[in-house]
Amino acid sequence: MKTMKAVQFIEAGRPPEIVDLPVPAPGPGEVLIRVAGAGVCHSDLHVLDHGIGRPGQFTLGHENAGWIAALGEGVSGWKEGDPVAVYGPWGCGTCHSCSTSAENYCERHASIPSMGGGLGSDGGMAGYMIVPSARLLVPLGDLDPAKTAPLSDAALTPYHAIKAALPLMTPDATVLVLGIGGLGHMALQILRALTPARVIAGDIDAARLEHARELGATYTVNTGEKTAAEEIRDITGPRGVTVALDFVGAQPTIDLSASVVGRNSRIAVVGLAGGVLHYAANNPPYGTQVSVPYWGSRTELMEVIALAQTGKIAAQVETFPLEQAVNVYERLREGKIHGRAVLIP
Ligand code: NAD
Ligand code: ZN
Ligand code: ZN
Repeated sequence: MKTMKAVQFIEAGRPPEIVDLPVPAPGPGEVLIRVAGAGVCHSDLHVLDHGIGRPGQFTLGHENAGWIAALGEGVSGWKEGDPVAVYGPWGCGTCHSCSTSAENYCERHASIPSMGGGLGSDGGMAGYMIVPSARLLVPLGDLDPAKTAPLSDAALTPYHAIKAALPLMTPDATVLVLGIGGLGHMALQILRALTPARVIAGDIDAARLEHARELGATYTVNTGEKTAAEEIRDITGPRGVTVALDFVGAQPTIDLSASVVGRNSRIAVVGLAGGVLHYAANNPPYGTQVSVPYWGSRTELMEVIALAQTGKIAAQVETFPLEQAVNVYERLREGKIHGRAVLIP
């Protein structure tokens, strides 16, 4: 029997473990992927710390790309060796949301056994992974699957948040991007590609702010400083920030967004660090839209891949052998990853 190494979630509060597993065989309708790269998302740290609310161990890695290795019975239209991105949020496939390709908002999410590969089902931090249906694959064309694994989450998630806010992102608007890590560094590139709005990047780490300037941020603000809100207000004037994209979601970033947005603005909280958004009359100001986007749709992943194919966005990737996963998670926790880490099996 052919075996492979896999990085597994064992239980909440324990570090991941590297185990040997048999290479799985695809059942009817399934597709076996030979993994080229699996992105290391900050959400995995939340998963490792708190679990996913369902019992059982599983292989981590929800941001995956690779090549088709084998097709299960009844799968057609694809062939062995095709490079593909794996669409990560696996819904029921048939509800109203799933029918419109927005499996990230599957209406049956509470009753399906897993949220996706690496989030309850076996994911991509292994030599191979099973994808339950070919509908969850998107062709990558000429893109290198290892380097483009982050498109399926680190780029798709901000793309979805930004696309929904586009009507507000006029040339005279100011967008605030908080947290310039895996998601934030893609958000800056997506904003440059899609909008004429000016962009303020905020982080607590000077190196991230430097990176933000390289990626086209108009202004940077160290949000660890007490003067951050004042600095942002000096930039925007009385109109305030038009769209705040929070890729941290901690109490300080949520409070900062709420204090700098103007009227008729939007706050999108993407980060899952557990902060609470309070509301009192006119605070956040009247007209503010609040959104809590989750991941993105399959058609949006196709759009993200098109942006990468035309060179408008590119994940800045640090690659590591799969065997170093435990150490890479520690580095991510310590803020030592630049751009996105990708594990290569
Ligand atoms: P990351 O670790 O790569 O980046 C986080 C960045 O935030 C770092 O640059 C760090 O310096 C910065 N930061 C930390 N605390 C800060 C603070 N108080 N103020 C300003 N900046 C701060 O993480 P990532 O993989 O980009 O993920 C970001 C968040 O988004 C995580 O909470 C993750 O779970 C969440 N996430 C949500 C979705 C969704 O669909 N809603 C999808 C993917 C990830
Ligand atoms: Zn993720
Ligand atoms: Zn569904």
